[in-house]
Amino acid sequence: MDQYDLIIVGGGISGLTLACRAVYGNRLSILVLEKEERLGGSLHTWRVGSDFWVELGAHTAYNSYKNLLQVLQERQGLDRLTRRAKLGYRFLNEDRLQSPIARLGWFELMTSLPFGLMRGQEGACLAEYYGALFGRRNYARLLAPAFAAVLSQPADGFPAQWLFRRKPRMKEAPRKYTWPTGLQGLAEALVEEAPFEVRTGVGVTAVRRKADGYEIDAGGRSMHCRYLAMATPPDVAAHLLLDGHPRLATRLSAIPMAEIESMAVAVAAEKVKLPQLAGLIGVNDVFYSVVSRDYLAHPRLRGFTFHFRPHRLDRDAKLTRICQVLGITADDLMAQREVCNRLPALEVSHVSLMEEVNDLIKGRRLFLTGNYFQGMSIGDCADRSTREAYRLLKTVKKHAGSHPAVPDTPTTGGVTVVDA
Ligand SMILES: Cc1cc2nc3c(=O)[nH]c(=O)nc-3n(C[C@H](O)[C@H](O)[C@H](O)COP(=O)(O)OP(=O)(O)OC[C@H]3O[C@@H](n4cnc5c(N)ncnc54)[C@H](O)[C@@H]3O)c2cc1C
Repeated sequence: MDQYDLIIVGGGISGLTLACRAVYGNRLSILVLEKEERLGGSLHTWRVGSDFWVELGAHTAYNSYKNLLQVLQERQGLDRLTRRAKLGYRFLNEDRLQSPIARLGWFELMTSLPFGLMRGQEGACLAEYYGALFGRRNYARLLAPAFAAVLSQPADGFPAQWLFRRKPRMKEAPRKYTWPTGLQGLAEALVEEAPFEVRTGVGVTAVRRKADGYEIDAGGRSMHCRYLAMATPPDVAAHLLLDGHPRLATRLSAIPMAEIESMAVAVAAEKVKLPQLAGLIGVNDVFYSVVSRDYLAHPRLRGFTFHFRPHRLDRDAKLTRICQVLGITADDLMAQREVCNRLPALEVSHVSLMEEVNDLIKGRRLFLTGNYFQGMSIGDCADRSTREAYRLLKTVKKHAGSHPAVPDTPTTGGVTVVDA
C-alpha cells in the first residue's frame, strides 16, 4: 500500500496552496489527488486556440491575496502575473446598458449612510448590512444584482463579514491580475517542480479512519496517510467523511450548494456590438453576469462567459440570449463551451457552523480547507489553507519522533506565513 505523510483530496486552489504551504523544507511526503484530468477546480480556463483563452470560472485576482502571492513568490511566479486592463462593469437592464452610478439614488444614500455606519457587519447578511448603509431601494436596484454577479448566485443571505475583509496588499504585484495562459495556468504553476506528488484523473471514493491516520481508496487502489486534508466542496467532504467522522459530516452537509450554468463563447472582435468592458451585471435577467475577456485584449477575438441561473434555459435558448446581448447572429459564434460550476450557498448561520467544524477537527489528524470557511474568493481559500498548514505543522511537531526537524516558526521556504 502507498504510504504518505499527507494526502490532500482536491487539486483546486485550496488543495494546491495547502500542499505548497505544508512542504516545510521537503520533510513531509505529500500527495495531491484530483479527480479531474486538469488541476485548478474553479480556476478553469478554456484554451480556445494557440493564443486565446476564456475563463469558465474565476477571472480576477487581487494583490490582497497575499498568501497566494507568497506561495507564488516561492515558485518564482510573481513576474509572470499579467496586469489586467482597467475596464468597468455595466448593468444590463431590459437590454440597455447602464452605469452603476445611474442606478444609485443619492438622496436615499445620504439619508441612510449616517445610521447604516453604526451597524456592524457581524451577524448581518448582505441585504441587512448594505441595505442599512445604502438604503433598501439602492440595495435592491444596485447592490443585490451586483453581489449576485460577484458570487454567481442570489447573495442577499451571504454573511457580510465574509465579503470584503480589509487585507494587506502585496505592493510588488499588480492590483488586479491574471496569468498569461489564464488563471488555471497560475494553479498549474504552483506544482511546477514542486516537492510533492500530484495525480490527476484520480478521484477518492472512500476514506477510512485508522488509529495512526487514514486509509483511502482512489483510482482502484488503497493508500495510507498519517494526515488527511480534504480540499473538496463541502458536500463531497461530508460524503467521504461520513463513516469516520459522522458528526463533522452532518455539519458539513448543512451547507447547500449553488449551481451555475456557465457558457463561454469566442467571437470575431468586429462582430460584437458591445463596447469594451469588464462584464455585465444582469438585472432580473436569466444570467447573473457576463464576464468578458476584454481585460487582456486580443487583435482578432473577443470572449464572453455567461453565468446563467440554473434550470432556466436549454442550450439553444442560452445561445439565443447570448447572441441578443452581444448583438451577433448564431453564425458569428466561432466556438462555445458549456460547464456547470458549483459554489457553496453561504448564509450567516454558517459563520458559527464553521466554528463548530473547527472545534470538531481540533487535535485530529484531519485538515479541512476550501471556499466555505471565511469567504469564497481565491484569496480566502489561500488564507484558509495557510491556517490549516500551520495547524498541520503544529500537529506534526506534537507527534514529534520521526519529524523533529519541523521548524518552530511558521515559515515555508524562508517566507513567513501571513496571519490568515
Ligand atoms: C463562476 C465563478 C467565478 C468566480 N470568480 C472568482 C473571481 O473572479 N475571483 C475570485 O477570487 N474567486 C472567484 N470565484 C471563487 C473561487 O474561484 C473559488 O471559490 C475557488 O477557486 C474554490 O477553490 P477550492 O479549491 O476551494 O474548490 P474547487 O475549485 O471546487 O476545487 C475542488 C477540487 O476538488 C476536486 N474533487 C472533488 N471531489 C473529489 C474527489 N472525490 N477526489 C479528488 N478530487 C475531488 C474537484 O474536481 C476540484 O478540482 C469564482 C467561482 C466561480 C464558480
